Amino acid sequence: MLTPQLDQFIRRMPKVELHLHLEGTVSPRTLIELARRNGVPLAATSEAGVAALFNYRSFGEFLSVFMGLARAIVYGEDFERLAYELGLELGQQQVRYAEVMISPMQHINRGVDLREAIEGAMAGFARAEREAGVTVRLALDYGRGYGTEAAWQVLEVARATRELGVVGWSIGGNEIGHPPEPFAPIFAAARAAGLGLMAHAGEVVGPASVWGAIEALGATRLGHGIRSVDDPGLLVALRERGVVLDVCPTSNLLTGAVGSWQEHPLPRLKAAGVALTINSDDPTFFHTTLTEEYRRAAIHFGFGADELSTAVLTAAAASFLPHAARTALCTRLAAELSALRAELAV
Ligand SMILES: [Zn+2]
Repeated sequence: MLTPQLDQFIRRMPKVELHLHLEGTVSPRTLIELARRNGVPLAATSEAGVAALFNYRSFGEFLSVFMGLARAIVYGEDFERLAYELGLELGQQQVRYAEVMISPMQHINRGVDLREAIEGAMAGFARAEREAGVTVRLALDYGRGYGTEAAWQVLEVARATRELGVVGWSIGGNEIGHPPEPFAPIFAAARAAGLGLMAHAGEVVGPASVWGAIEALGATRLGHGIRSVDDPGLLVALRERGVVLDVCPTSNLLTGAVGSWQEHPLPRLKAAGVALTINSDDPTFFHTTLTEEYRRAAIHFGFGADELSTAVLTAAAASFLPHAARTALCTRLAAELSALRAELAV
């Protein structure tokens, strides 16, 4: 239940977000301005028109709208603007640390220089960090539908931009027809390069996709992973190996991955002892924010201050920051959370 005290706690509590796509945070207004400046035609030309595109009936429809609109984002300065605006927004929500994904292939295929995009994004995040106090790092989320061959050149850029703030490697896009196993050699190379490993899995495909992500790819974090609930043996494996599921509840409802709040597997995953974090995925596209996801977890899943604090600390511990920075983040968040809980008596 969302009491006024809990609502205040949610607004003020320090947060961590691990599952957030940069392209999915652009506001309709910024998108329209970028499209105009870059001469890219969009399917709508007003803010209301763009917002109206965000009504999907399936995951496939969501992906095609997402990719169509992302075409407006072209130059390093575009990525810088997106990153800066996102950083300010995260700071307002009391997010202390975020890992943000860029989907490289849809940009590369349009002739975008990936290194320029990464440099731009990190410049925007650095500016936001100075103004809003939020630290942001990047992960490259390779679209599995583009096949394994092209992944090697993207991984090369990830390796070369580690010093700029690229900390993670992921696969995303449509799981259907694109199982994780063929990406195993790329994940092994990403790990050798010092990148943290995650994978979108168990969102629209069942446990087989999750097994592949943890066994063949060695992913320590899963985007969504909610279909793991269909395999008791998998739940045991996730718990014993400490694999973290980055769950994005509203996203699951709006893409049709889950039929209703009552059917959402999160409470059953939690009861099985699986480590969970709460995230917004594509906040603009799903009309949500991280704060709103926390509120919905309180309303629909009965999360209180204990569960929400655990989600934040789980996210901090599962981040791909270097060990010392990760430990410092956990310590800082634990202190901030207990001070706020004492103040608000929650
Ligand atoms: Zn995602």
